[in-house]
Amino acid sequence: TNNILQVENLKKYFNVGRNQTLKAVDDVTFTIKEGETFGVVGESGCGKSTLGRTILTLYNHTDGNVQYDGTNVHDIPEEERFKLFRQMQMIFQDPYASLNPRSTVKEIISEPMEVHGLYKDKHVRLEKVYELLEEVGLNRDHANRYPHEFSGGQRQRIGIARALALEPKFIICDEPISALDVSVQAQIINLLERLQEEKGLTYLFIAHDLSMVRHISDRIAVMYLGHIVELTDSKTLYDEPLHPYTNALLSAVPIPDPDLEENRSRVVLEGELPSPINPPSGCVFRTRCPLAQDICAQKKPTLTEVENGRHVACHLYDPEIYDMDSTDLTKM
Ligand code: SF4
Ligand code: MG
Repeated sequence: TNNILQVENLKKYFNVGRNQTLKAVDDVTFTIKEGETFGVVGESGCGKSTLGRTILTLYNHTDGNVQYDGTNVHDIPEEERFKLFRQMQMIFQDPYASLNPRSTVKEIISEPMEVHGLYKDKHVRLEKVYELLEEVGLNRDHANRYPHEFSGGQRQRIGIARALALEPKFIICDEPISALDVSVQAQIINLLERLQEEKGLTYLFIAHDLSMVRHISDRIAVMYLGHIVELTDSKTLYDEPLHPYTNALLSAVPIPDPDLEENRSRVVLEGELPSPINPPSGCVFRTRCPLAQDICAQKKPTLTEVENGRHVACHLYDPEIYDMDSTDLTKM
């Protein structure tokens, strides 16, 4: 399979006054294969939403590059970038905030088609709206209603229908289920999976909780303070996390089996998430890492493939720095 998206050394910095810089995304590199679901997980403030928006060019980038299907998305004229939105779309966390309360569902879903000059005939466009409503589990009777008449889950379905209106190939899902009731979350995940299969979609799926991305993702990148600290296929990440931060995130996920729960070593994160305006020197995780050593303050670990497809940014896995046999990982 082809790589549909290639992100190379991407940086997104914000100037926040008094010559201070917020490094929201700092030197991030990864690729997404066509048809894949690539999860990005991390605490709020880790840069995952900024990463999504910078990929979609909703933000200008600071450095590095993003290639979608071979096109450098930050390097093309506005007009071409606009056309690119037919292929790259976004589903937002809060469907209510992202749907205009004064527009009917029909208007909301047909707006992108109008803006992009698709289905110029009104009747054809309306048929397309009906079709999209059915694809997301709603129906044509919903077309003339307003967002407030729907439940949270239904509103997210409307948001998904709108994202699908331009028949994109790649969708960034920015915490699409975080604001929904637990009972509804699985329905939306199932819908996204069905649509992916039917339409051959590729997803970048952003979440703050590993349990939310585990089942839908093929591979997962864990972010901390603007950096990817671990990147691996989702089963391996879940069963055998390498990075101490991944370990801590997993400790926060409850295991349904009480026996397993009892035997598990827990890592509780100490201290606050440091400010991305003034991140720690060396490894950005070192102020909260139970295994931090002197080297961690001096040298920034780079994301390195330590095994086939398993990438981690931690000195513990650098044989030149650490002797693994003498490091007691059970303390983690
Ligand atoms: Fe912890 Fe050091 Fe690894 Fe960073 S590099 S995660 S501080 S052991
Ligand atoms: Mg966010």
